Amino acid sequence: MSAEPLGKIWPAIFFGHGNPMNAIQHNNYTEAWRMLGLSLGKPRAIIMISAHWFVPEVAVTINIAPSTIHDFGGFPHELFQVQYPALGDPELARRVQQLLTPVSVKLDDTWGLDHGTWSVLRHVYPAADVPVIQLSVDASQPAAFHYELGQKLAPLRREGIVIAGSGNLVHNLHTYAWGKHTTQPYDWATRFEHTVRAALLADNHQLLINYEWLGADAVLSVPTPEHYLPLLYIIGTQQPDDKITFPVEGVDGGSISMLTMQLGAVHSRQKRLTLMGSSISHNEHATSSLKAAPGNDRQPLPLR
Ligand code: ZN
Repeated sequence: MSAEPLGKIWPAIFFGHGNPMNAIQHNNYTEAWRMLGLSLGKPRAIIMISAHWFVPEVAVTINIAPSTIHDFGGFPHELFQVQYPALGDPELARRVQQLLTPVSVKLDDTWGLDHGTWSVLRHVYPAADVPVIQLSVDASQPAAFHYELGQKLAPLRREGIVIAGSGNLVHNLHTYAWGKHTTQPYDWATRFEHTVRAALLADNHQLLINYEWLGADAVLSVPTPEHYLPLLYIIGTQQPDDKITFPVEGVDGGSISMLTMQLGAVHSRQKRLTLMGSSISHNEHATSSLKAAPGNDRQPLPLR
C-alpha cells in the first residue's frame, strides 16, 4: 500500500471488536477487517478511541513506540504473545490536545495500545506500518460530551488521519455464549442494533446520543457504556457528504454486535472484493457491503 495524498477527507470508522480471540483467529469478521484495510489505503496515522481505555479523564497517548497491552485474563498463552509494533505519533497527540481545547487533555506515556485497538488493527493493517495513537473514553462524562469531542476531532479527517472507534454496539457479556459463534442473537440485541442502524442512516444523532430512550433493549444491549460510546465520537465527525456503510455485520455469541460502521467514501479502486472464496459486488452507492456472516464455527487458521 502506498501513502495517500493529503487533502481528501478520510473515512471515520466504528469497529465492533468482539472477542479478543479475533486477534489470532481467521474468521469472517477478521477477513472483512483485512478487506477494509485494503479498501482504505494507508492514512498518515490512526487515532483510536477504544472501549478499553475507560478512565475518569481525557488522555491521549504520546509514546513514540507504544507498548502492546494485554488487558484481559483467562485467554490462551498465544494471545499474550501478540505484539503490534505500530509507532505512535506525538505530533498528532499534541494536535488532538489543541483541537479539544478548552477540554483538558493529558499527554499520557503510561498507556499504549490495548486489545480494542490491536485485535482489530492486526487484521486491518497487518504490517503495523501506520502510526497509532489512542484517545481515552472519559468515564466521568455524559454521552453528549463524547459526541462533542468527535465534532472537535473532525478536522483531522482532512489531515490524512483515520479516526476510529473500537467497541461494540451491543455488548452483554452476562448473556454471551463464549466460543459459540453460531448462537442466535437475542431479540433485544437484534432490535437495538436495528434501531441504531436506522438512526445512523437517518442521521438521527439525538437518538444515538440519548440511546437510553430505547428502554429495556438499551439496558440489556448497553449494560455499561464503554463499548457503545466510541460510536458517538465517529458520528460526531460526520460531514454532509459522508456515505454510511456497514462493512462488517453479525452478532456473535448472541449478544455481541460485530457491526462496523464507516463514514465516508469507499475507494473506487476496490470495486470487487473476495470474501471467503465468494466474490462480492462492492460499489460506492451500497449502504451495506462485505457482509460477514454471523456464524462461523471453523477452527482458527494461522494468519499469513
Ligand atoms: Zn471489548
